[in-house]
Amino acid sequence: MDQNIQLNYSAHVPVKYSADIVVVGGGIAGLTAACAAAKMGKSVILLESFAILGGNATSGGVGAFCGETRGQGAIFDEIITGLEHFHAIVPYQPYEQLEARVFNHEILPLVLQELALKYNVKLLLHSKLADCVVDNGRIKEIIFCGASGLEAISGKNFIDCTGQATLVHTAGFETMKGANGNHVQLPMSLMFFVRHLKDNDIIPKIPDDIIAPIKNCDDLPMTSIWPNGPHSNAIKIKIVGSDSTDTESLTDAEIRARRKMLSVLKYYVENENKKWMLDHCSPIIGIREGRRAVGEYILKVADLRAGGSFDDAVARGVFYLDGHDPNNDKRTYILPHDQLHVPPYQIPLRSLIVKGAYNLLVAGRCLSAEQLALSSARVMTTCAMTGQAAGVAAVKATEDDCAVNQIDGKEISRILQKNGAIMRT
Ligand SMILES: Cc1cc2nc3c(=O)[nH]c(=O)nc-3n(C[C@H](O)[C@H](O)[C@H](O)COP(=O)(O)OP(=O)(O)OC[C@H]3O[C@@H](n4cnc5c(N)ncnc54)[C@H](O)[C@@H]3O)c2cc1C
Repeated sequence: MDQNIQLNYSAHVPVKYSADIVVVGGGIAGLTAACAAAKMGKSVILLESFAILGGNATSGGVGAFCGETRGQGAIFDEIITGLEHFHAIVPYQPYEQLEARVFNHEILPLVLQELALKYNVKLLLHSKLADCVVDNGRIKEIIFCGASGLEAISGKNFIDCTGQATLVHTAGFETMKGANGNHVQLPMSLMFFVRHLKDNDIIPKIPDDIIAPIKNCDDLPMTSIWPNGPHSNAIKIKIVGSDSTDTESLTDAEIRARRKMLSVLKYYVENENKKWMLDHCSPIIGIREGRRAVGEYILKVADLRAGGSFDDAVARGVFYLDGHDPNNDKRTYILPHDQLHVPPYQIPLRSLIVKGAYNLLVAGRCLSAEQLALSSARVMTTCAMTGQAAGVAAVKATEDDCAVNQIDGKEISRILQKNGAIMRT
């Protein structure tokens, strides 16, 4: 529809909740932010559009913590302990020996919800941020749509952990996408899971009518296959060419991904003689990148390569530059293989502070960082560190009644290190 009309409407929206700190988005970053703030005695609301917490880690089917899993802060330690309690994570090894620590992504939502409840975080699930009220750079209320309809939450400080900087964008602050203003994002990937059948089981039919058959392995998209507990595999396929911040484009990615999943499955059954049937597919496609906040500081690839350290360091990253080529669905990267490695580096608090905002921070994938810098810093271990940092910083801003850019970054760094975060480079 080309016609562009201006729709003005008014609605009575009750301000049903209020809290010291309101966190939007309940992925790893949002959960760690909310728990860190609540642990320090503040009232905290965590808003999540899905039915479960965890974001990419659960709804997206990503079942492995990349990077170093020790020294990521007290809240992440509790997540690990919670998974260990269920025997739902592989034993610890340092990052240098084990790139990714596999866990059970069906157990994680339970661990996360119990952690949030332990710290008295008020959870609002099935609740999607729709709008906000901003006065002079200060967010007063956010408006969300949940099962009860449109309602509002007032808060003193807000943390955007939507993975898409949705609150930053909705509030009118500057955001960025892609690299050098091109808006082209790293590709998405769909996670699906197959069950192994016995020899005499009948493999369910995969009809040809909605899929493009794959006849030889050169035509497969980038496909990664892992063990997924007994008699099962986790499979990840790359889907290129969509914009995760555009409704139609994201819808198209979901549709193409599910068709491609069947094509890939059929290929393995018919050409590689796998006795596989589809067990389940993650309900949302995995989004590597969307909008990012423009913060007080934009973390650069050069900072990572230099093993950068900052006075206001609040997180540390160790993972390589995982920049998948946005335009190619094969195992291709923006950088040559010998340029992917980076030494341990720090992330400053300023990259979590939204430029021009009085009371808005970000964590996780919303980080103020160059595209390729985020391709390292977006792994879940680092998201947990930035989450905990944003939670602690929001507490300080609430207690000192100051703008977020007035928070003493060195003090936040000290508090985090006392609480299990290792910043060493
Ligand atoms: C395919 C794929 C594979 C990956 N592999 C790994 C890996 O092996 N290991 C690793 O460590 N990392 C991996 N990553 C990266 C990592 O999973 C993510 O970067 C990380 O989980 C992001 O965490 P987050 O909390 O910032 O965002 P998300 O996990 O995206 O969470 C954002 C949350 O916000 C909610 N939300 C969004 N908008 C709204 C709204 N308007 N209102 C309310 N709630 C909202 C979402 O529902 C979601 O729960 C992978 C990523 C992808 C896509």
